[in-house]
Parts: sequence; structure tokens; C-alpha cells
Amino acid sequence: MNELIIGSHVSFKKGTQLVGSVNEALSYGANTFMFYTGAPQNTKREKIDLDLTKEAQKIMKENNIDINNVIIHAPYIINLANTSNMDFSCQFLSEELKRAEELGINKIVLHPGSHVGCGEQEGLKNIIFGLNKVLAKDTKTKICLETMAGKGSELGINFEQLKFIIDNVTFSDKIMVCLDTCHINDAGYDIRDFDKVLDQFDKIIGLNKLACIHINDSKNDINAHKDRHENIGLGTLGFDNIINIIYNPLLKDVPKILETPYVSLDDESKERLYPPYKFEIEMIRNKKNNLNLMKEIRSFYK
Ligand code: FE
Ligand code: FE
Ligand code: ZN
Repeated sequence: MNELIIGSHVSFKKGTQLVGSVNEALSYGANTFMFYTGAPQNTKREKIDLDLTKEAQKIMKENNIDINNVIIHAPYIINLANTSNMDFSCQFLSEELKRAEELGINKIVLHPGSHVGCGEQEGLKNIIFGLNKVLAKDTKTKICLETMAGKGSELGINFEQLKFIIDNVTFSDKIMVCLDTCHINDAGYDIRDFDKVLDQFDKIIGLNKLACIHINDSKNDINAHKDRHENIGLGTLGFDNIINIIYNPLLKDVPKILETPYVSLDDESKERLYPPYKFEIEMIRNKKNNLNLMKEIRSFYK
């Protein structure tokens, strides 16, 4: 099968849990999705409901969604790179691994962390320490370290740092990588020459470690170290470069996940925002830039 594996970030709500997430993904015309098991900025988590999980897995089967392509994103309050947060971060990450297993999902994307002053080397060592603390021989879920933009004191901002972490974790077979197109642009990689970027990735980390790609345009120029996502075709990466990444034959089995910003109904009212994913997935499938993207999204939700 050569079908494009494409989806977006979706919600995981109290009461409907994974059933709600799958149905949201289907409403966008997606065949995969990614979600936080609760609010990304806090630690409140509802117990995973077995009946809802089974129902969701049934819906996935009926709709040809391979659960192996579905991804959890760990909350950003986890920071393994600085010791001040270590105990909490490890405990919460362990619980996330358990929740993933209960949901039958085998990949968790994790931001490697920010060193917050202790320095790059110390920060990388802390991340390795933390990962070694949460991973065990029988851990079924893979932790996918995300490539970061280099905002503040973020780590994981180049392939070398990620490789260093992978090489020094005991169960390194359980570590993979999530490539974010906005982040690598902001970190200084020139995605206009994506073949070269992928070649570097392969030489340093190995393409077999690439578990997921976050597809985002960027509001900022290359090397800006900003991390502000933009809707597809409206940013500095541009539609053609993004299509070139999505349809790269070397990446055909890697799930592609959109994390582009929600859209307001007009330029003034910013309090109600609507998901762009149905429209962006459509233009990706058509391989045709939609110059009326904002207009169409707005009239759809009006
Ligand atoms: Fe992320
Ligand atoms: Fe991302
Ligand atoms: Zn980002």
C-alpha cells in the first residue's frame, strides 16, 4: 500500500476520549492523528476508559486507520533537561507511557527539554538520565524525541544532539525521532534542499529512527529560533517545499501530522478559533495550493 499517511492534531476530551479523537480525525478526512491525553499545560488526566478505547479501536479498523500510525504528544510541562523538574517529569512521563499502552498506541512524541541555564552538555546528560529512569526492558511504547526550533534554551535543536541522546540511553531501541518542518527551519536547516537535510538525518541518526513528521509552515525565516507555526502555504516554507517533503518516497511509511494554527472567523475576533485541517489535508491530497484557504475555512465555519 502506498497511501499517504496524513492527519493532524486532534482533541482527547473527557467523556469521549479516544472515540472523540478518531471521529474528529475522520471529519478532517485524515487516516491518522495525534493528541495529548489531557491539557498539554497541566497534569490533570482522566483514567483511560477501556470500553471507549475498544470502541475507538473498532472505528479505526472500520475506517482503515492503522493504530500504529497514531501518536500521543507528551505535555510540555515535562522537562528532562534540568534537574529541578526531574522527579516530576520522570513520574509523569512514566504515567504517560502507561496510558499509551492502555490505549494501544506505541509512539509518544516528547520535547527533549530546555536546560534553563545548566548548559547544553549538562542538559543533554540530564535528558539521558531521565530517559534511562523511565525506560525499561519491557517498555512497549517508543519515545520520539522532537527536533526543536532552538527557542530559549531548548535542546534537540540539531541531529547531533539527538544522536548523542540516543547513543547514551540504555534502551536506545525505544528512542525514535519526530521531525518538525517548522522547527528544523527555525533551527537553521534549509528545507528548500530537503534531500540534503534528509541525507544528513540519515548519516547522523539513521532514517530507520524517523517515526513521525510534523507538517507545519513557519511564520519565521530560517534560523530564527522562534517556533511559530503557520498554515500550509502561508508561511516562509511555502506550499511546494512542503509537498516535496510530504511526498518524498523515502518517507512514505512515516505518518505526517499537521499542527498548524486554528483560524479565526475574521481578523478582529480572536476568541473563537476553528481547525484548518480538513482544508489543509484536502490541498495536500490534491497537491494544489489553495489560494483561498483562509476564505474557505472562514465561510465553512460561519
Ligand atoms: Fe511538539
Ligand atoms: Fe511539532
Ligand atoms: Zn512547534
